Amino acid sequence: MPSQQLTKNTDDTLSSSWITPITIRSQEYYAKTLPPKDFKSENLIAINRDGDRIDSYFPMPPKDVWEAYNRRARNHKICNKLHLGGECGDLSCEYDHSYVDPELLTVMYYILRQTPCPLSGKCRSIKCYTGHHCQRDSCKGSRPCKFGRRGHTIDIHLAKWVIPDDTSEPDSHRLSPTSDDSLYFGPTSMSTF
Ligand SMILES: [Zn+2]
Ligand SMILES: [Zn+2]
Ligand SMILES: [Zn+2]
Repeated sequence: MPSQQLTKNTDDTLSSSWITPITIRSQEYYAKTLPPKDFKSENLIAINRDGDRIDSYFPMPPKDVWEAYNRRARNHKICNKLHLGGECGDLSCEYDHSYVDPELLTVMYYILRQTPCPLSGKCRSIKCYTGHHCQRDSCKGSRPCKFGRRGHTIDIHLAKWVIPDDTSEPDSHRLSPTSDDSLYFGPTSMSTF
């Protein structure tokens, strides 16, 4: 390509900057950048320097755990509200309330953290177990990921911990993602049915 063409292409260069690809973040990056899931992250909300909420690090559970989870959930979908939120006030809840192996709960946590929170970075609810950005290894933002561009570009460095405010909890947090097909979101080999 002749080099003088480059100067004529300024317009193209400008417009393409609007659609620059998202930053591909590896699992190692998430692991070393995001705060760990511990007592602090279960009681306080982590935010970045822009005031956007960031999640604690939660890696994808191993394949055999996914398989065990899928076998169980296929028969009877597990109640998120009870097993993750601690209580289910729905007397006519049709989801499974019986004992769930803590290992299988990691799959549920992972799925929900990969389900975008409607309040996104503004969310301050400690009970919110949906996600505030993507943390899927090397995700390019394409399906099955449900996070938009923002979910892959926000700064995920911890700036400070803030007190949760559960009064801002939207009704949508009450929706049970159990009824969502996203339950089968997982390694490609798992989503074949
Ligand atoms: Zn329930
Ligand atoms: Zn939230
Ligand atoms: Zn993603």
